[in-house]
This record gives sequence, structure tokens and C-alpha cells, in this order.
Amino acid sequence: MSYICPLCNGLVVPEQACPHCLQGLSECGKLDDYTGPYSPYSLQTSMVEEDGNENGCMHMLYCHHCHTSTLWSVAQWDMSGNQ
Ligand SMILES: [Zn+2]
Ligand SMILES: [Zn+2]
Repeated sequence: MSYICPLCNGLVVPEQACPHCLQGLSECGKLDDYTGPYSPYSLQTSMVEEDGNENGCMHMLYCHHCHTSTLWSVAQWDMSGNQ
């Protein structure tokens, strides 16, 4: 089976609204880019679960209005039918 993240592959654009002020969120990349052994950040984030997908690709979304970050678990697409 082959699953891809549609957001990583540019197939969709994030249309998530900020849970705090309901403004549009900006996509800031994968969570992997923000975490790691040398990460200076202690993340204070909200979680947006999509369809209870446990294996979603975690993306960081940022609200420029209230300056908060939100984690978005992007449901991955099954592309095995295209091979
Ligand atoms: Zn992704
Ligand atoms: Zn906001």
C-alpha cells in the first residue's frame, strides 16, 4: 500500500481555520521541521484531528492574527490504486 500526504505533495491547500479566532491559518511545514533534539521551541499548540486518522502527517499551521500554532493531522491518501 502506498499512502501520501496530499499537503506535502501540493495536492491540497490547507483550509483550516484558527480554533481561537477563526481566521485562516498559514501552513508552516511539517511538524518534523520544528521538533528534534535541538529544537529551541516548547510548542504550545492545539490539535486538529481529521477523521481520527492515527497515521496522519503532522503539519504546523500558524495564525498570524493571534500568533498561535496549531497542529493539523492530515489524513493521508491511499494511492495504491494508481500503481
Ligand atoms: Zn504532510
Ligand atoms: Zn487565530
